[in-house]
Amino acid sequence: MTETLPKPSKEELVARAARVRLLVFDVDGVLTDGGLYYGPSGEAMKRFDVKDGHALVMARLAGLPAAVLTARSSSIVDVRGRELGLAAILQGKKEKGPALDELLTQFSIPAESCAYMGDDLNDLGPMSRVGLSACPADAVPEVRHEAHFVAQSRGGQGAARELVELCLKASGRWEDVVGLMRRSDTQSILKG
Ligand SMILES: [Mg+2]
Repeated sequence: MTETLPKPSKEELVARAARVRLLVFDVDGVLTDGGLYYGPSGEAMKRFDVKDGHALVMARLAGLPAAVLTARSSSIVDVRGRELGLAAILQGKKEKGPALDELLTQFSIPAESCAYMGDDLNDLGPMSRVGLSACPADAVPEVRHEAHFVAQSRGGQGAARELVELCLKASGRWEDVVGLMRRSDTQSILKG
């Protein structure tokens, strides 16, 4: 198999990103490095990236909601998702394609106005549906092959932030949120 399909031109990528009104992320391997830390009673910890988290908060402030869609179930994801103010937290969804359809219906958003970032084979269903498909640098080859946008960063290490920046810059909103962050009365929105 070739490494990747021909990728959209920069102009087409920006046009796709400018249409995005909902960001959807897989969790393990996308918002985390894919590590699952187990204790005696099961899954105990995941590692999230604070800069990815900041980007998701900034997207929300810019009016671009974000959601997570994962096949696994963990209270850790609920805690992190609530902390970031995510618009939806869908867990335990073994069939991610139909779950994405549910999400689009819930938000009344056409698939072409949705971006999805995944890293493994079970993400190909949602990726094939959306207007902008994306993956971290260390996604499996089949996913890198399909994605419109392959981030330079790995999962849990800035990949999600790259997608947020791409969409906010494409729609001219990035400078607005950076300006918001310069104001001393709004800096506390970002923790850490
Ligand atoms: Mg994954």
